[in-house]
Amino acid sequence: RIIRTLHAVGIEAIAVYHHEDRTAPHVSLAKEAVELTAETATGAYLDIDQIIQVAKTFSVQAIHPGYGFLSENSSFAAAVEQHGLTFIGPQPNVIALMGDKIESRRFAERNGVPVAPSATVQGADTDFLRQASKIGFPLLVKAAAGGGGKGMRIVHSEEQLLADIESARGEALRYFSDERIYLEKYIEKPRHIEIQVLGDGKGNAIHLFERECSIQRRFQKVVEESPAPNLSIRIRDAMCEAAVKLAQETRYLNAGTVEFIVDSKEKFYFLEMNTRLQVEHPVTELVCGVDLVEAQIEIAASKQLPWQQSDIKQAGHAIECRICCESPEMEFQPATGVIRSLSFPSTPVRRFDNGVHQGQIISASFDSMVAKLICFGQNREEAIAETAAALNELVILGVENNVPFLQKIISHPVFAAGHLHNQFLEEQKDSLQHTPLTESDLVALI
Ligand code: ADP
Repeated sequence: RIIRTLHAVGIEAIAVYHHEDRTAPHVSLAKEAVELTAETATGAYLDIDQIIQVAKTFSVQAIHPGYGFLSENSSFAAAVEQHGLTFIGPQPNVIALMGDKIESRRFAERNGVPVAPSATVQGADTDFLRQASKIGFPLLVKAAAGGGGKGMRIVHSEEQLLADIESARGEALRYFSDERIYLEKYIEKPRHIEIQVLGDGKGNAIHLFERECSIQRRFQKVVEESPAPNLSIRIRDAMCEAAVKLAQETRYLNAGTVEFIVDSKEKFYFLEMNTRLQVEHPVTELVCGVDLVEAQIEIAASKQLPWQQSDIKQAGHAIECRICCESPEMEFQPATGVIRSLSFPSTPVRRFDNGVHQGQIISASFDSMVAKLICFGQNREEAIAETAAALNELVILGVENNVPFLQKIISHPVFAAGHLHNQFLEEQKDSLQHTPLTESDLVALI
């Protein structure tokens, strides 16, 4: 995704990869690609010294961290700058502040942005119980360094609390090497709505409106769209204003996203700020008619915003589906294998961002998401129809995937009505259930 924009603006790219990724599209697209030596892919992509060494060998000017691995790692951003290179992202201290959910919530609160009732807890079990009863049940146990829904537990009663705290701590330590946790009021069936922002590092910031990301499984996004359906303009504008305020107050540099949850009465609460490009950024690109990676490069190069707020308009509707290799029949466990066939009929209103190609081995080393389908329409109905048609025409053979599940979501009447919240997939579980093909279906297909 990033190399395509670099080429469009006339900049060459040097890629790094792990052996397992040697045939990945980013390796063949880049001018040069350097293999990182490490046993595991994770080990390679987290090796700051090796990556900086490659950058120095090729005398690169800047590093784009992508969206995973080191993209929200303040030590990496600091190391890039220390070596006289430009990090295409925010300042290391801002990454560190926003990466700590306890600190970032405090920062939001100090700046008048609402947060859900919460408590940080240390020490004796009695403290936890006291704080928990103040917040009330159900509540969420969350990891301070959390991400991807890891280290999160819904706790329904006092009896469950201590065991859940213990297991959330263990998970937080395993995934983030940081066992700090906090308690937060559980909002029933909230929507997840986030605001894209850009900052110039000097206190000027603009927003690029909202993304609706309420279709989630295990607190992870599955379908995203922009604009958010059935959201009052007044609340949307208040959220945009709050997001810009946080970007201004942190003197935010480059692209970031401020995430909120919104309750059934449209009261919104700050969740966290992601200090990188988000997976779901294309829906914003389609409705705002911008290239966010190009904006990131321009900001990193000039420390100036490419647009004023009044230049940014939202037009039409865009929907993104995350295409994952997983087995809907096996509780969505990641599926592995070889992609035997991959074909996607492109049109001007369909975009297929993929990290795989025909013949690629899908291993368990990476996240199960392999591609994203993003469709545009003049309005939501058109975007839904376009997405349904595109999912129908998409062919991924060889590895089990969630395309049939996405088809069911997109054609669901409750989804079509825009009544969205983060329990939608759970609530509609039965009507979204996988229907395996029968023999007569197969005959019909042939
Ligand atoms: P992570 O950083 O692990 O993704 P988040 O804090 O961003 O965790 O939350 C992930 C998702 O969990 C949200 O999008 C939302 O659906 C749900 N969630 C988070 N906080 C709450 C809350 N207080 N009440 C209800 N649901 C929540």
